[in-house]
Amino acid sequence: MGIRPEVIEQVAYELHRRAAIVLPQDARRSIQHMCARETHKLSKFVFLEIIENFQIAENESRPLCADTGLPRFYVKCGNEAVIEGGFVALERSLRRATASATREIPLRPNRVHPLTRKDPDNNVGAHAPSVDYSFEPDAAWLDITTVHKGGLFGSDYRMLFPADGIPGIKRFFLDAMSEFFRRGLSCQPAVVGVGIGGSKDVCFRLGKEAACLRLVGDRHPDPHIARLEEELLALGNEAGFGPMGFRGDNSIMDVHVEIAYTHTGGLPVSVHHFCFAMRRATARIYADNSVEYREDPQWFTPYYRREGID
Ligand code: SF4
Repeated sequence: MGIRPEVIEQVAYELHRRAAIVLPQDARRSIQHMCARETHKLSKFVFLEIIENFQIAENESRPLCADTGLPRFYVKCGNEAVIEGGFVALERSLRRATASATREIPLRPNRVHPLTRKDPDNNVGAHAPSVDYSFEPDAAWLDITTVHKGGLFGSDYRMLFPADGIPGIKRFFLDAMSEFFRRGLSCQPAVVGVGIGGSKDVCFRLGKEAACLRLVGDRHPDPHIARLEEELLALGNEAGFGPMGFRGDNSIMDVHVEIAYTHTGGLPVSVHHFCFAMRRATARIYADNSVEYREDPQWFTPYYRREGID
């Protein structure tokens, strides 16, 4: 007896549905707040259109954006959790749910072979949908989060030197914002995730998780990192960018920073946009197969951010 694959499949399907249609409360509040304080006429108009768009999506049960982005999963597994059929069964359930959700919700079948452009028409293929894992001690549940990651081109990476420090990070952050906004690489307003440290792949992964898996308004528990988040948020919103690349008072809902210990000779930094069509939804499946849906992915637990040997 354990967590059943058919329950995982039903939950994953429902997560796709919720993520595609219902804008999470934190994003909703943030966009409404930005709209209220916007003083530029055109940007105000854009904010009002965005608000009307997410209200229509919910009222008519239609996706928030015609572009599904790239649907993906984050799975946090309690150390004591038992899955019938193991992780292979879990992954089969996630892939089946993605194919049926694409057909029935519907989601746009975005995933194609990178060279032949063959489209299986179901968002399933090699490494698609991707599944990232983390673990949690003293728990027997399974947390599943889906993210339909939009703003596909709103990501960048730079290897800084340790001496570049915080000023170097701020400079790269502003360079990236300006590139994303002026070239239309991602729709604003957005949550910006910043990964600092690690190896290149870990730096990139953490920045993306910081953008997609923390609520607007959440602050890092380390006060130094929390201060940097506040400073980058103020810096980005003082730069004169508004929604959808127009001039305006604000275009960044929040900045989330995550760090990883890195090589002593470098200071890798990555910057990621999570666009205003913020598609994410989470559910916890308990050992008795009961299910609880929620909005906060609770991905960055103290255990996940641990620094010591234990
Ligand atoms: S960036 Fe976001 S809002 Fe813009 S088209 Fe892509 S998914 Fe839609």
